[in-house]
Amino acid sequence: MAQLIDGKAVSKQIKEETAKEVLALREQGIVPGLAVVLVGEDPASKVYVSNKQKACKACHIESFGYVLPEDTKEEELLQLVETLNRDDKVNGILVQLPLPKHIDENKIINAISPKKDVDAFHPVNVGKIMIGDYDFLPCTPAGCMALIDSTGVDISGKRCVVIGRSNIVGKPMAMLLLHRNGTVTICHSKTKNLPEICRQADILVAAVGREKFVTADMVKEGAVVIDVGINRMENGKLCGDVDFDAVKEKCAAITPVPGGVGPMTIAMLMKNTVTAAKIQNSMK
Ligand code: NDP
Repeated sequence: MAQLIDGKAVSKQIKEETAKEVLALREQGIVPGLAVVLVGEDPASKVYVSNKQKACKACHIESFGYVLPEDTKEEELLQLVETLNRDDKVNGILVQLPLPKHIDENKIINAISPKKDVDAFHPVNVGKIMIGDYDFLPCTPAGCMALIDSTGVDISGKRCVVIGRSNIVGKPMAMLLLHRNGTVTICHSKTKNLPEICRQADILVAAVGREKFVTADMVKEGAVVIDVGINRMENGKLCGDVDFDAVKEKCAAITPVPGGVGPMTIAMLMKNTVTAAKIQNSMK
């Protein structure tokens, strides 16, 4: 039976450290603030936004919530982003994705000041990550890295396979593993012989969005398996991209869903907000 990588415990520790840092900043008159913008009624997004606001409270970060109707015009959202860019109380801006279809997500991401881009989705921050000289890391991949590190495995020289190439998870994840000297392969829907490639992985990261996509025969004995997927099963329960029950018998360490990567994403958002506050107050 594999080591269970406890995302709740690791994220709790990160949030506690962040809370201490925020209290110290507050003593110096700096109050980190995060603006969270939700457009529309997507139920999953509502839950994410509410969890992010709760985490702000726990970390003593000021949170500013903006809930806009589904039919908000792109121009109106751009104006709000511009107002938040100029607001000194707001150090980080998070626009919850996905946005309604009539709004161009890239336009909105590009409008957020790179210094307040705590999701690290702005092209400037994406470029910095590519170069390896960054202020913010995208929250989910950064959370995955912290979970891999929590197992004590040394990434350097390891075969790493990332399934998924989204801008939010797969691509930056691969880049972070590369920065740590992993030998990285990115797989996607056009990949041939995917199970064979996955079987070579010492570290396997699944970010596909398909229930139980990674089966035990795709996993090398002793691998570290990070499951980013969040899928809702027919019975209403959440499950990851990995067939957890079968894979846990084979691998060395595995993240559960829920309780793995999910809580880490929020903890990293808190960390990024503090980093943003420090940068904007010339402390970094
Ligand atoms: P996307 O849908 O943007 O990307 C999915 C990727 O999986 C694509 O690159 C796609 O390939 C690839 N893929 C799809 N089907 C296959 C297949 N049959 N074989 C190989 N590759 C395949 O999703 P995201 O990256 O945004 O998210 C992935 C998962 O992670 C989702 O379940 C999402 O809910 C979850 N997630 C969880 C977070 C957390 O905090 N825990 C945060 C963000 C996401 P192609 O590019 O060729 O289409």
